[in-house]
Amino acid sequence: MDALRELDEDAWLWFQDKSPAQWSRAFFRDESKCDILLNNMCESFNSAILPARDKPILTMLEKIRMDMMVKNANRRVVCEKWKDFVGPRIKKIIDKIGQRATQYRAHRSGEFIFQIIGTGEGGSKHAVDLGLHTCTCKRWQLSGIPCVHAICAIRFKKQEAALYCDDFLMPSSYMEAYNPIIYPIAREDNWELVDYSIAPPPYKQQAGRPKMKRHKKPGEKENHPPPPTPKEGKLSKAGIKMFCKICGQQGHNKLGCPITKAKKAAAGEGTSSGAAPNKRQRNEVNRAAAPKGSTNVKDQVIRSRKTWKKIKQTVESTSGPNVGASTSQSNQQPPTQSSQNPAAGSAQWKESEPMQPSQASSEYAAF
Ligand SMILES: [Zn+2]
Ligand SMILES: [Zn+2]
Repeated sequence: MDALRELDEDAWLWFQDKSPAQWSRAFFRDESKCDILLNNMCESFNSAILPARDKPILTMLEKIRMDMMVKNANRRVVCEKWKDFVGPRIKKIIDKIGQRATQYRAHRSGEFIFQIIGTGEGGSKHAVDLGLHTCTCKRWQLSGIPCVHAICAIRFKKQEAALYCDDFLMPSSYMEAYNPIIYPIAREDNWELVDYSIAPPPYKQQAGRPKMKRHKKPGEKENHPPPPTPKEGKLSKAGIKMFCKICGQQGHNKLGCPITKAKKAAAGEGTSSGAAPNKRQRNEVNRAAAPKGSTNVKDQVIRSRKTWKKIKQTVESTSGPNVGASTSQSNQQPPTQSSQNPAAGSAQWKESEPMQPSQASSEYAAF
């Protein structure tokens, strides 16, 4: 702790009122064989029930029951396919830890007791007992998975590390956890009726719309795509209180400053339209000044539909009889038909929508 105090006084102070059992590996209880420090499990359960949470009580319970039923069954099916002594996730962890085992040397002390010494500079020293499943680094007791020292000792004995995992991590325990079957049920109208009434719980309307999203920490990003990596030496401004450059007050920047606003207002009165208009003002001006339907996508579509009618009329009036006379020919050669179309309309038309002339020609051919 003194070393920490030398490093950072604030960090040392922060730890003062916290029990060592909450943050120091030496004081953790080790009977659970679980090294999870965070409540992520609750969080993922909460996020899974989110679609059900705002439903009426029967719908909600039924949805959660369905989810649990399917999940438990799927877990059992998956587990039956495991061929190792442990599940794939534990196997992966063991493999990862095992990669570092070459940095240690094992020295035999008893049949199952080993002294493990790190080969690197200032290498660590630990005592491993393969019989009791203990190591003085305490990681093995905490997680139930052999620590790097234990794996070193296990390899010395030319045995499989997975065999030394705790029983909690074996597929049999996994199976036992998901073994209780949640049975399917029929719809509500098939349920047994009871002859007493169940009163609804007291209900108090809360202010505002119920929140669906988790409260995020100040540092957590709201947007989903990964944020651009900050330039070196630049920190995020999240959570930092901003002060105005102009008046020095907290809670607004120089754009929102009353002084700037007053200045702007004064300038605006003096020159009326002389001040540079902002984007919204410009847009409003443009919208008012623009001719009807010149830039609007919707209007363009309508315009092309109008031209379509116009062209249709001209085509019918000029080449209509020809088409009727030579139906079989035009069926065989639609491209020539379209090329025979009068120029004035179709040229303009082709510019706007290149796909339609061929459709048109085939349609006329069918007439
Ligand atoms: Zn260890
Ligand atoms: Zn200000």
